[in-house]
Amino acid sequence: MPLDPQCIFCRIVRGEAEASLVYQDSAVTAFMDLNPITPGHLLIVPNEHFPDLGSLDAGAGSQLMSVARQLAVALRRAPLGVEGLNLHLADGAVAGQVVFHCHLHLIPRYTSDGFGFRRGASGHGASRGDLDRLASLIRTELAEGGQG
Ligand code: 5GP
Ligand code: ZN
Repeated sequence: MPLDPQCIFCRIVRGEAEASLVYQDSAVTAFMDLNPITPGHLLIVPNEHFPDLGSLDAGAGSQLMSVARQLAVALRRAPLGVEGLNLHLADGAVAGQVVFHCHLHLIPRYTSDGFGFRRGASGHGASRGDLDRLASLIRTELAEGGQG
């Protein structure tokens, strides 16, 4: 997918916008989030402009996760006092995606950092029948090409 000259992450990947780089290879780039949720908050992005998770090239996706694992180890070893990590990917505006160049957040966690995911009102309990029905709907789409 071509680079988008309007996209801030494309510009960072190409070195046209300022960023604190942590890692770069032919497929992905990692840099410090400008507005960190916690100290050490990193973003990992594919070098190509894939707007969302569904459009992400499978090879770039694999490398994204492989580099995330290496960065998680580095973050834990660095003298920051990191005690845990959350990986977060917002896919779609309703999920909180603001920059439409697919990216993975690596958010270090510290005791009492105040960050956390919370369940919405509908996130409590479901019958086995509901779960089986939803699983069946998703399996159907997967069989029809949801694997990309
Ligand atoms: P999203 O909500 O789309 O998952 O997250 C976008 C992230 O990009 C936010 O955490 C935001 O702080 C970060 N961000 C937005 N603009 C810039 C920028 O110009 N440079 C860097 N390093 N991070 C940015
Ligand atoms: Zn982009």
